[in-house]
Amino acid sequence: MKACGTCTLCCKVCTIVELNKPSGQWCVHARPGQGCAIYGDHPKECQVFRCGWLTIDELGEDWKPINSKFVLLLDEDRRRLVIENDPGHPQAWKKAPFYQQIKSWARAWTVIASVGKHCIFVFPDQDIDVGPIEAGDEVRRGFRGEGPLKAPWVRVRPVGGGPPREYVGRFGPTA
Ligand code: SF4
Ligand code: SF4
Repeated sequence: MKACGTCTLCCKVCTIVELNKPSGQWCVHARPGQGCAIYGDHPKECQVFRCGWLTIDELGEDWKPINSKFVLLLDEDRRRLVIENDPGHPQAWKKAPFYQQIKSWARAWTVIASVGKHCIFVFPDQDIDVGPIEAGDEVRRGFRGEGPLKAPWVRVRPVGGGPPREYVGRFGPTA
């Protein structure tokens, strides 16, 4: 049975709405490597949180956030995965054996790697860096074209208005 143990990385990389805590910064109540100073009175969203390492059975100890340096956030319906990287290790997700598995997940799920607000959309054969995404921004992703002219794309429509940002990847084979 997996357990958090001395891992506290979600208290750094995750957004906690109730505390107005942004992603990528330690919570003021965190005791890194020890736990939560207000445990028992901590927010409901912390109480119910279970990272992807805890919920995906096949992930071993190397995927435990204290070791991997990123936290996996997997939607309940298993269609969208966010990889929240520790800002002190922004490239951690690109290391072996992680990157290969993440690319495999991208064949079935929407996969986004982030460092704070900075987001990279992961497609099976390429990654698209879209810069910062704010809470409330409308984001869509998909593919354009067919066969050799098929390319992934991402569109970010800012919550505050203004023109959408659109990113189109390379043409080429996609899974
Ligand atoms: S990141 Fe996962 S394993 Fe680490 S403390 Fe949070 S829930 Fe537990
Ligand atoms: S309140 Fe406690 S459990 Fe929640 S983020 Fe802060 S330190 Fe972690």
